[in-house]
Amino acid sequence: MSVLSYIGIGANLGDASTTVQQAIAKLAALPATALRAQSSLFRTTPIDSHGDDYINAVVCIATALDAHELLLALQAIEAEHGRERPYINAPRTLDLDILLYGDHRIESETLTVPHPRLTQRAFTLIPLLQLDPFISIPGKGSAHQFAPGVADQAITRIGA
Ligand code: AMP
Repeated sequence: MSVLSYIGIGANLGDASTTVQQAIAKLAALPATALRAQSSLFRTTPIDSHGDDYINAVVCIATALDAHELLLALQAIEAEHGRERPYINAPRTLDLDILLYGDHRIESETLTVPHPRLTQRAFTLIPLLQLDPFISIPGKGSAHQFAPGVADQAITRIGA
């Protein structure tokens, strides 16, 4: 049985737009997984980090992978893009986060879902709301109620 999961994508090194597009193609090609929808690309200013602007997007996938299998698959895609972690919040080639996994609430050593910072960051909340303005976050209610809280964060939609 498959579950709808929302994945946050961010990149800010090199050709970040191309990296995000490649990541979307790789997510679509995961086993037992289909791409259902993708947001626009958005440009955002780094938060708790530095360097170039980020390019961000959110995709919705239907997947039969369980949440931990999905996390491992995302980490493999990140690794293919040569992500290095020299220090916390260092600029990164590619960052993939599980924002939502159906209506599941997960607290394990490696995984917290819904993603704890989903509602605090424009770069995850705004693309998510573009995909589904009425989406609900397990344990928190309507996602759109959090939009005013991120209104001070610079985010620009790129293209369509
Ligand atoms: P980050 O630097 O934000 O990519 O964090 C990576 C770490 O966050 C990994 O060690 C993951 O195990 C952990 N993590 C916890 N919850 C999540 C989530 N919902 N999506 C992706 N990584 C997560």
